[in-house]
Amino acid sequence: MNKITNDIVIQKAKSIGFDLVGFAKADKLSDEINRLDEWLKQGYQGGMKYMERNIEKRKDVSLIFHDVKSVISLAVNYHSNYKYTNNKNFGKVSSYAWGKDYHLIIWEMLENLESELMEIDNEFKCKSYIDTGPVMDKAWAVKSGIGWMGKNSNIINREIGSWIFIANIFTNYVFDYSLQIPDFCGSCTDCIDACPTDAIVLDYVIDSNKCISFLTIENKGEISQSFSDKFDGWLFGCDICQDVCPWNIKFSQPAKIKEFNPINNNAEINLKDVTEMKNDEFKSRFAKSPISRTKLNGLKRNAEFLIK
Ligand code: SF4
Ligand code: SF4
Repeated sequence: MNKITNDIVIQKAKSIGFDLVGFAKADKLSDEINRLDEWLKQGYQGGMKYMERNIEKRKDVSLIFHDVKSVISLAVNYHSNYKYTNNKNFGKVSSYAWGKDYHLIIWEMLENLESELMEIDNEFKCKSYIDTGPVMDKAWAVKSGIGWMGKNSNIINREIGSWIFIANIFTNYVFDYSLQIPDFCGSCTDCIDACPTDAIVLDYVIDSNKCISFLTIENKGEISQSFSDKFDGWLFGCDICQDVCPWNIKFSQPAKIKEFNPINNNAEINLKDVTEMKNDEFKSRFAKSPISRTKLNGLKRNAEFLIK
C-alpha cells in the first residue's frame, strides 16, 4: 500500500508554502505536442531555439525519468499589491521579476518537499522541474487541475488567478488523479484586445516575435522600430494580458512568500541609470533577480529602445 497519499502530499506541500497542488497520470502528451508542432511551424518561438529541441522528451516524460507514473503539479502565488508610479523616466519590470529569483525560492521548496516525502517512504523516487528542462509545465498544470490555460496562454486558477509559478514533480508513485478544470475564458477577449503589439494571434496562441515579454528578455537581437510607441514603458517583460484578466482583477491575493515583493527598487528602474550602468553594478544589483537573465547588454538595449 502507498505510504504517501494525496492528502499527505497536499498537507506537506502547503506547509512548505505551495498554494496549489494537483495530480496527473504521466501519460504521453500527444495533443499538446501537436499544438506545439503547429506553433513551431509558424515560427512563433522566435529565437527560442530550445523550444525546438527534445520534442520526444516533452511528449513522453518516461524518456527523462524511466519509472515515472504520476506528475505532482504545484503552484506558488507571487502576486504583490505594489502599484507602478508610471513615471516616464522609469521602465516597468514584469511582476514575476520584482523580488528574489523564483528558481532559487522554489528549488528550495521542492527539495524540502522531496526529502519529506522520501522520509515517509524511501521507495518514493522523483525528478523535479521549475521552468527548466524539456518539460511542458503548463500542460501538466492543466492536467493536474491547477487551472485552465487562458487565451493569453497563462494558467488561471479560479481561486487565485494567474499570478502563479508552476513546478512539477515526476514520480514513480501512483496517486488519485485530479479532475481537469473547464475553460472559464468564455467569450472574454480582454487580453487579446489589450495586447499592444497584437501578439495573441489566435485564442491561446502567442507569437513570441511580437510579444514584449520575449522581445525584452529572451530576444538577443535588436528590437524593431515597428514596435516604437507600443511598449507602454515595459523594460523587462510585460504583464498587460494578465493585468486585464477579470480572474486576476477579482481573485488575485497577495503572495504569502514575501521574497516575491519588490527588492532593490526593481519594480521600476530608472532608464538613464540603466544606460550608464557598469557590469559590476548590474551584477551586484540583480545577482538574485530574474532580471540578470537579460545580462547588462539586453537591459541597456531595452532602456535605449524606451528612451528613443
Ligand atoms: S505579455 Fe504583453 S505583449 Fe505579450 S501577449 Fe501579453 S500583453 Fe501581449
Ligand atoms: S482576459 Fe479573458 S480571455 Fe484572456 S485569459 Fe483572462 S478570462 Fe481568458
